[in-house]
Amino acid sequence: MCIFCKIANKEIPSKVVFEDEHVIAFHDVNPQAPTHALVIPKRHIAGIAQATPEDEAVLGRLLLAARRVAELTGIAESGFRTVVNSGANAGQTVFHIHVHVMGGRPMAWPPG
Ligand code: C5P
Repeated sequence: MCIFCKIANKEIPSKVVFEDEHVIAFHDVNPQAPTHALVIPKRHIAGIAQATPEDEAVLGRLLLAARRVAELTGIAESGFRTVVNSGANAGQTVFHIHVHVMGGRPMAWPPG
């Protein structure tokens, strides 16, 4: 089973920020900003490139959960960045789709 499926199943502990029936958000173990959480669907989807029309609702839920995470961690008002890396060349290392939610410091553009 993939590592994020294990986190979703609570087989691996994580610092949960938000959870509902469909998604779970937890703090990244290697934060790249003062706040850095990941939002994942509980059902395995490898990435955007593998998503199908049946995933439409859960993809929307991921972004709405990202908003909740920003509110719950206090970065909603100052601004926050959401990132989805798709494929190895984009920096995806865990092939269970996840939305990075980062904030608490100014962000540069373009990203590296
Ligand atoms: O977008 P990418 O696939 O590179 O992001 C994976 C993220 O998952 C990394 O930021 C990494 O720190 C995080 N991670 C985690 N807990 C794990 C394994 C990876 O928070 N057990």
